[in-house]
Amino acid sequence: MTDAAKNTTPTALQAVRGMNDILPDDAPLWLHLEDTARRVFEQYGYRFLRMPIVEPTPLFVRSIGEATDVVEKEMYTFEDKLSGESLTLRPEATAGIVRAAIQHSLTYERPQRVWTHGAMFRHERPQKGRYRQFHQLDVEALGFAGPDVDAEQIVLLARLWKALGLESSVTLKINSIGDPADRRAYRETLAAYFSPHFNALDDDSKRRLSTNPLRILDSKNPEMQSIIENAPRMLEQLGADARAHFDGLRRWLDSAGLVYEIDTRLVRGLDYYNRSVFEWVTDRLGAQGTVAGGGRYDGLFESLGGKPTPACGFAAGMERLVLLLKENGQNADSAPLAYLVHQSDAAAALAWRLAETLRDAGHDVVLHAGGGSMKSQMKKADASGARFALILAEDEVRDGAVTVKWLRETGQTQQTVPIDGLIAWLAAITI
Ligand code: ATP
Ligand code: MG
Repeated sequence: MTDAAKNTTPTALQAVRGMNDILPDDAPLWLHLEDTARRVFEQYGYRFLRMPIVEPTPLFVRSIGEATDVVEKEMYTFEDKLSGESLTLRPEATAGIVRAAIQHSLTYERPQRVWTHGAMFRHERPQKGRYRQFHQLDVEALGFAGPDVDAEQIVLLARLWKALGLESSVTLKINSIGDPADRRAYRETLAAYFSPHFNALDDDSKRRLSTNPLRILDSKNPEMQSIIENAPRMLEQLGADARAHFDGLRRWLDSAGLVYEIDTRLVRGLDYYNRSVFEWVTDRLGAQGTVAGGGRYDGLFESLGGKPTPACGFAAGMERLVLLLKENGQNADSAPLAYLVHQSDAAAALAWRLAETLRDAGHDVVLHAGGGSMKSQMKKADASGARFALILAEDEVRDGAVTVKWLRETGQTQQTVPIDGLIAWLAAITI
C-alpha cells in the first residue's frame, strides 16, 4: 500500500443531486399515501401492474414527443454497454404501460383498468416539489372511449383527496385540446398569433413556434404569461366530436357534484394527449402547484405499433402530495405498542419468547438488542415512541411476571402483570 493510500480517509459519498432518500421518519406518510391510494384505486376496479424502470429510448421519444421539455432535455439516456441500444430511465409511466399492454395483448379481449406507482426520472433543476428522481401514482383506463371513464378518474381522485384529508387543499381544472385535426388547425392559429410577438418569446418558445406551438402555452416563464393569456383558445375551435366529448365530461362531473374551472390554457406537457385534459392544483406548494395531471390519449397505442385503442389516464406526484400532507400537519404513526427491556441472560431468553408470543397475537413489539444498563434501555424504549415499556429483570424472571411502564399517558402507574395474563391485559388496555 502506498503512503498516500494509507493516509486518506475515504470521503463519504452523497446521493445524486435531486434524488432523495425517504427516511424512516417520513416513510409512514408515504406508506399511508400508498395504502390509501391503493384502496381507492381498487374500489374503482383498477388492477396493479409493474413495469421495468428502464425502457428503449424510442418508446419515450415516440410517445411523449420530440419537441417537449421531457424529451429535449430531461431524459436520463444511456447506451447499453453490451448491445449498444439506447435506453432511458422512465420519465413517466403511461408509455411503459401502453408498451406492456401492446406486448401482452392486454386489451385484446376487453378493456383494462390498471394502475402502478414508482420512481420516475427527469433531469430538472431540483427545487421544492421538483426532483430528478420522483414518484408517481399512475392510473390508466385502456380501451375506453369515454367520456365516462375520463370523469371516473377525476371522481376517483376527488375520493382520494377526501380519504387523505386534502379535499380543501386542491382544485380541479379541465380543458379539451381537441382531436388531431382540430389541433392541426389550432397550431396554425397559434403560429399566426405568436409570430408577430416573436421577439418577446423565450428561446424555447421561439424554437417551438415552428415545431410545436401548442407547447408555448405550457411555458412557465412568467414574462410570457400575458402573451399566452391573450392567445386564441383551443376550446373555441373544437370539432363536433371533441365538443360532444367535452360536454359529456362536464355532464358527468356536474352529476357527481364536482366543482371545476375550465382552464383554456391547460395543454399538459406531453404530446400524446387529445380531447380531455385535467389537472388538480394547489396554491400551497409555490410554483410546483400541480399535484395530479392527466387526460385522454386515443392515438398512443397506434403510434406505438398497437391497434387503435382509446385510453385515458393520469399521474399524481407523490412528493408533492406528501408535502401537502405535512403542510396539513398530518402525521402517520408507526410507533410500536411495546418495547421490551431485559437485564440478565435469563431475562433476555424470556423476553425473546415473550416478544414472539406478543407478535403472534398481532402486536407490534420491539425487543431491545445490544445490551446496556436499564437506564439506557429505558431511554431507547422512550425514543421508540412505544406506548409501553415491558420490563424483565431478575425479580420478574423469578416471579414469571412482567413490569409494565406507561411511556405516553400521564397519571398511569407502573404495574406488574403475570406473563401468562399479559395478552389479556393488553387486550383490555388497547380497546
Ligand atoms: P410540471 O408542470 O410540474 O413540470 P408536468 O406537467 O411535467 O409537471 P406530468 O408529466 O404530467 O407533470 O407528471 C404528473 C405529475 O407528476 C405532476 O403533476 C407532478 O405532481 C409530478 N411531477 C412531475 N415532474 C416532477 C418532478 N420533477 N418532481 C416531482 N414531481 C414531479
Ligand atoms: Mg415538467
